[in-house]
Amino acid sequence: MDLGLGQKRAAVAAASAGLGLATAKALLEEGVLVAICGRDPDRLMAAAATLGPGVVAIEADVSTSEGASAFVADARERLGGLDILVANAGGPPGGAATATSLDAYRSAIELNLLSSIAMCLAAVPDMREQRWGRILAITSIGVRQPIPFLAASVTARAGLTGFLKTLATEVAGDGVTVNSIQPGSHLTDRLLSMHRGPVEALSADIPAGIVGDPADFGAVAAFLCSEQAKFVTGTALGVDGGAARGLF
Ligand code: NAD
Repeated sequence: MDLGLGQKRAAVAAASAGLGLATAKALLEEGVLVAICGRDPDRLMAAAATLGPGVVAIEADVSTSEGASAFVADARERLGGLDILVANAGGPPGGAATATSLDAYRSAIELNLLSSIAMCLAAVPDMREQRWGRILAITSIGVRQPIPFLAASVTARAGLTGFLKTLATEVAGDGVTVNSIQPGSHLTDRLLSMHRGPVEALSADIPAGIVGDPADFGAVAAFLCSEQAKFVTGTALGVDGGAARGLF
């Protein structure tokens, strides 16, 4: 299926590895002009090399709102405009609700809530003016079903989900969709760093019986950015092999 994205321009944050990289790859395969960012220049260049010529690699740290806004502004300038924003960042350290300090909550809120809000605020005005835009945030299954050992992550991403839903309503009439995608367990560096045991042990808790493939995640993300997905907004889509057990 042609997703109708040829020559659209996308900024994909924290895309030097993992789910961001997979999303950038899926968009590139649809003919999108893509800018990615990462903090480490070597990792960033290695990622850009795997994506091939044409990708714009921007060294940026989206753990602060200033860094996040600057990435969007740079991407817009280098691409000559912006049609798609994939708001993403690394995940915060783990910790139970009572074992997480206020400072750790603050850092997670800066990393996974305020920086994504900053990216949205930087991207939305042009998208509204051109009457076409796609905003997609990578959050977590923890929004749907809190993860006991990731309290700071759950807290920040639940707040972000509230922001996105509010924003979606505000900009829907301007042709801009705003959605989030909630990964369950996908085979990335982040997952491997959080999970000490064998990967097979993770799949035992997933109804699909497998750990997620980042490439499949990227394909779902690209669809949510598509022309055909223009009537999908304000949603939070789980991509988790059935791991979240609740009705919503
Ligand atoms: P990852 O750590 O494997 O990859 C993240 C990439 O972003 C890395 O290349 C890293 O260098 C880069 N990055 C990290 N912080 C950055 C920053 N401040 N500025 C710029 N670049 C930065 O992570 P992932 O598995 O791809 O996960 C992406 C997001 O999805 C994270 O927020 C993660 O917590 C969340 N998530 C992932 C899973 C999973 O199973 N992989 C599940 C739930 C939620």
